[in-house]
Parts: sequence; C-alpha cells; structure tokens
Amino acid sequence: MPDDDDSTALPQTCVRCGNQALVRIVGRCSDCIGRLGLAQNDEYAAWRAEVKKEFGVQG
Ligand SMILES: [Zn+2]
Repeated sequence: MPDDDDSTALPQTCVRCGNQALVRIVGRCSDCIGRLGLAQNDEYAAWRAEVKKEFGVQG
C-alpha cells in the first residue's frame, strides 16, 4: 500500500500545479489530468506509467 492515502477526503496539494484538490491520481489533480489527457505528450505518458505502477492497471 502507498504511504499517502488518496482515499481520504482532505484536500491535498497537486504536485503539478500546486492547487488544493480533493481528487488526485498519483499526485495530479483532476484539472491536470484533464490537461494531460488532452496534450497526449511525454508528461501524459509519464503520468500513465505512474498510474500503472500505483494501481497495477494494464493497458
Ligand atoms: Zn493540478
């Protein structure tokens, strides 16, 4: 299990934009995730790799 529990309802700081966000996936808030998804760049690929590592998602 990861040390930081993202399931808590406390706002945490997004590692990318620094905003407080209730919903984060591997440190990025939903706004950043949306932007990464639109950009489809190297940063998005790196985030996807972290998600796979964190959750064990294939594909
Ligand atoms: Zn963000």
